[in-house]
Amino acid sequence: MKRPEILAMLRQAREGGYAVGSFSPRNTVLIRSVLSAAEAERSPAMVQISANELGWFSLDAEDFARAYFAAVKDYRAQTVLHLDHTKDPETVYRAIAAGFESVMFDGSRLPYEENLRITREVVAYAHPRGVCVEAELGSIGGADKLETGSDETLYTDPLQAQEFAEATGCDLLAVSVGTAHGVYPVKNPRIDFERLAAIRSRVSAALVLHGGSGLPPETIHRAVREGVSKVNIATDLELVFQQVTGTGRQPNALTEQLPQSVKDQAIAQVQALCQDRMRHYLLSCDRLA
Ligand SMILES: [Zn+2]
Repeated sequence: MKRPEILAMLRQAREGGYAVGSFSPRNTVLIRSVLSAAEAERSPAMVQISANELGWFSLDAEDFARAYFAAVKDYRAQTVLHLDHTKDPETVYRAIAAGFESVMFDGSRLPYEENLRITREVVAYAHPRGVCVEAELGSIGGADKLETGSDETLYTDPLQAQEFAEATGCDLLAVSVGTAHGVYPVKNPRIDFERLAAIRSRVSAALVLHGGSGLPPETIHRAVREGVSKVNIATDLELVFQQVTGTGRQPNALTEQLPQSVKDQAIAQVQALCQDRMRHYLLSCDRLA
């Protein structure tokens, strides 16, 4: 999908009171779970992988894109290939060359001015190529310290978010309002909905909630009402996959070599999870013509 269509998809979500799920299959085998779920629920969806995940599973952006495009032609679904958290612009550019339709440059750990400057450069590179850009301001902590290597959370400032979004021209903005990556140590993390609403009133870019795994459905519903139109869901998929296959984190090549019956079972179970999230959390089902 090209940028204008992706923006239209996000706008429809915003106006329709639902969110687009951005799911991390974490290996090439489970790409089909997300695509099947999107087709079955007639839900838009994004299939994402982060720079960290590429490292964990010994994959590169080209492998993942090749697997995605080989699979996606078998489905009648509205899906987008998205590069999640990436700190190195060179990796972003490689992913764009490999066919990624949307990319995240995460400069949230950089000094503000540097985040702004590099995000603007990434936007200048991506937009003429028809690719959407997600940026991050404030930093989303990692509950299990897996994704970010830190559990510190720095909330996004609404005024700064406005200035940042306008200055960079980013299409999507990941905001830090109290969610965390990974598995939550507490059942009901406190989300700063007032802050979210304040950001929404100032920023026209689509707002993204990271750390969607393990949040109760009502929390997602409320976040969507306050203006979130994309929710990232990663950890939940991996937990189901590991449970079904009895494997830990392993190189993607090993996952691909699992017996077909095991892979099929994992694909089906993760598909069921994605469908549940679309139906009960994101409210994104039955949205396609
Ligand atoms: Zn994230």
